[in-house]
Amino acid sequence: MKTFSKTPHEVTSIHISCPICGDVSCTAAWKLEGFTFSRCSGCNLLYQNPQPVQSELIERYDDEYFEYEIENQGSFLQLNLLGLKDVGFFDKIQQELFVGEMSPRFLDVGCATGGLLKYLQQRGWQEQGVEVCEPAAEYGRRVRGVSIFSGTLEDAYLPTAGFEIVHASHVIEHLQSPGDFVMEAYRLLKPEGHLILVTPNSDGFQAKLMRSHWRSAIADHMVLFSRRTLTLLLEKHGFYVEQSATWGGIPQGMAPTVIKKSADRIAKYFGWGDVMVLRARKKRG
Ligand SMILES: [Zn+2]
Repeated sequence: MKTFSKTPHEVTSIHISCPICGDVSCTAAWKLEGFTFSRCSGCNLLYQNPQPVQSELIERYDDEYFEYEIENQGSFLQLNLLGLKDVGFFDKIQQELFVGEMSPRFLDVGCATGGLLKYLQQRGWQEQGVEVCEPAAEYGRRVRGVSIFSGTLEDAYLPTAGFEIVHASHVIEHLQSPGDFVMEAYRLLKPEGHLILVTPNSDGFQAKLMRSHWRSAIADHMVLFSRRTLTLLLEKHGFYVEQSATWGGIPQGMAPTVIKKSADRIAKYFGWGDVMVLRARKKRG
């Protein structure tokens, strides 16, 4: 089954150049109903081209999206915690950051209903969220008592060098200008601050096997990164990748549990997992 996505209808699409290297040359890789993923001739990035105009994209994160977030908030928190654990967040990073009187500051972009923010707030972090889905942001503020800005990261005007951690889980693949997002994360982080990104892995076993039927080949995903292309983007904007991991071998329900568990272990070991997490640090100066 594919990931939740709004079906595009009468979309106003425009042809774009590669969001990483700017190359205008690309070839259609996966044609789907109403949209196409193309492969950049310059850097091999897989991205949707043409793309819908931004105003139509933001409209997709409506009440229906909120229902999806609410239904899955428990499992999303668990996945967020597992991703953070995989890049050393709960041991060496916490040890490094919890020194002195000041609580470290954690920005969660695409924080949904704020489950992760609440978890961190209870453990001494100063939390800040940004969420484009207004009902989800409102729920987080009202029910969980966490700080969430409703809108895009660029519209939030958060303080320069104001955070030790910027985290975005399943966000960057939805963006039309991932480079602008990474640049904004760079501005928001202190020197040597950590940018932690979770996104589908287009170099994973499932993507290679399923191709256009892959669960992440959906209309809402503008860019489908591999570890190599995401690293390229991060390095271009002043980061170096310090740690990464992948998870998810074969899709749920495709094989008996015992086989799935083995496949998951193998995928994780070799980096063939369906989803990846990268932790990158902001270079000094
Ligand atoms: Zn490119």
